[in-house]
Amino acid sequence: MGFSGKVVIVTGAGRGIGKCIAMTYASQGARVVIAEKDPSIGEATVGSIREFGGEAIFCPTDVTKPEDIARLMQSVDEAYHRVDILINNAGIGITKSPYDLSLDEWDLVINTNLRGAFLCSREAARIMRRQRKGAIVNIASTRAFMSEPNTEAYAATKGGLIALTHALAVSLGPDHIRVNAISPGWIETGDYSELREIDHLQHPAGRVGRPDDIARACLYLTNDENDFITGANIVIDGGMTRKMVYVP
Ligand code: NDP
Repeated sequence: MGFSGKVVIVTGAGRGIGKCIAMTYASQGARVVIAEKDPSIGEATVGSIREFGGEAIFCPTDVTKPEDIARLMQSVDEAYHRVDILINNAGIGITKSPYDLSLDEWDLVINTNLRGAFLCSREAARIMRRQRKGAIVNIASTRAFMSEPNTEAYAATKGGLIALTHALAVSLGPDHIRVNAISPGWIETGDYSELREIDHLQHPAGRVGRPDDIARACLYLTNDENDFITGANIVIDGGMTRKMVYVP
């Protein structure tokens, strides 16, 4: 698929969807940079990639810290002299009544999910524009478009990521940098076998999502052949946000 030798940075790649994305690119021959704040899980992802002969390095990165992001990009530039693909995956949520959510909690979610993605994109783009080529994917959420109660900060960041995606796509287009988003629905990162039948059947697609559903979409969006796609958002939710729900 043309990813051999590409330098791919994945934030929050120590577990869950980010880990799967990192392993998927590595399995396609990419050189993957694990930008994760917890060294133990970051190194574990590197170990899993090297086990099958893939190439990966760990760069300790807390995306809420601008200095960590600057160091990440400098290290990658020194190691590889390029960045081909950035996947802004790191994300957190806090479920709490809007009456009780503290300013610090609001800021933490915004600074992780939204400001972190902006700063990573901007610093990666400084390197990508030298190459006059690059691709960025923001992992948003269907919660950009619909909500459960008490998820204001998370929803705001994910809506913000959709807007950031089209804004950056327009600004960075002249540098041949494409920026797209993926909005996952329920992607099970724990024990899939423990899901109930009703969990699966409530989805029009008949099943809950898996991390590789998202990883394959990243490959699609960042494939050089698909260079007419920018500013787009792909919803991957088994059809859940297309389903009208009435109490029977
Ligand atoms: P996980 O919580 O399993 O993984 C998130 C990863 O991000 C962890 O490795 C975490 O590290 C890391 N991370 C958190 N904060 C930071 C930070 N400040 N700097 C660097 N890394 C950080 O989440 P998922 O895999 O489920 O989700 C991945 C992305 O997909 C998120 O953006 C999420 O919002 C989005 N998403 C997920 C859905 C799902 O159903 N799973 C649905 C829709 C969207 P640590 O463990 O050390 O905190």
